[in-house]
Amino acid sequence: MRVGLTGGIGAGKSTVSALLAERGAVVIDYDRLARDVVDPGTPALAEIAARFGDGVITADGALDRPALGAIVFGDPQALGDLNAITHPAIRELGAARERAAGPDAIVVHDNPLLVEMRAAASCDVVIVVDVPVDVQVERLMSNRGMSEADARARIAAQASREKRTGAADLVIDNTGPEDELARAVGGLWDELVSRAAARSVPGEG
Ligand code: ATP
Repeated sequence: MRVGLTGGIGAGKSTVSALLAERGAVVIDYDRLARDVVDPGTPALAEIAARFGDGVITADGALDRPALGAIVFGDPQALGDLNAITHPAIRELGAARERAAGPDAIVVHDNPLLVEMRAAASCDVVIVVDVPVDVQVERLMSNRGMSEADARARIAAQASREKRTGAADLVIDNTGPEDELARAVGGLWDELVSRAAARSVPGEG
């Protein structure tokens, strides 16, 4: 069963993923995939160099993220071109990891851009980890040392909270403390197991 997991920056996706993995889910981390697809020698990195020039490649053949970031920041056309190169590669790698997990696995696609990449529609279940913006800002400041302005700018660059929760089948509220989240994820896991069982009954999928 394909489960999409998303949420705004710092909302608690990694925390929820780790709790689901403890229960038996196979978690695919899309932050990791996004790095893997542009490793030295990959087709996507070659396409990026062809589009943006050798100035975005370091002396040892790796992606120069700050250089690329400076080009695409505030340039929607350039960002669109970059996404057109990386997103298909990320999708393919995610699909390959899912196939490797086998047909009976509950596979969690932990993807901060699930909504932005329009990947929600292909999931059997979409889970959104949700917190009010002010809680998100406060956590980004206290846990990651961001300034309030930086935290708000990063949140503003993502899909809105409303757009994300609008795509959700299940919303996990992470406003409370982490032990409350752990309890909620216990209930979530039971729900996923029962949905997976219902899908595997012939004629009910
Ligand atoms: P990112 O979008 O940056 O990948 P994320 O959505 O994966 O973030 P986490 O890394 O799970 O979020 O959580 C962000 C930070 O907030 C972590 O330091 C985590 O320990 C902390 N955190 C998560 N849930 C809570 C909570 N309920 N109360 C307080 N802190 C929390």
